[in-house]
Amino acid sequence: MPIYEFKCRECGHEFEVIMRASASKGEVTCPKCHAENPDRLMSAFSAGSSSSSGFSASSSCGSGTFS
Ligand SMILES: [Zn+2]
Repeated sequence: MPIYEFKCRECGHEFEVIMRASASKGEVTCPKCHAENPDRLMSAFSAGSSSSSGFSASSSCGSGTFS
């Protein structure tokens, strides 16, 4: 289940929301001030997993696939 990170445009509060693929961004509201349409940030979950696996992949075969 993907976790999306949002930042409220009204109060600046950052929060994470577990969303189904069918769910739309418009359903997300700030848990603090309940403002709609927060800015979506990079998911902490995917960013962390891609950076850790990306390091080993780039060091072993990154130069070959890059060209
Ligand atoms: Zn807010």
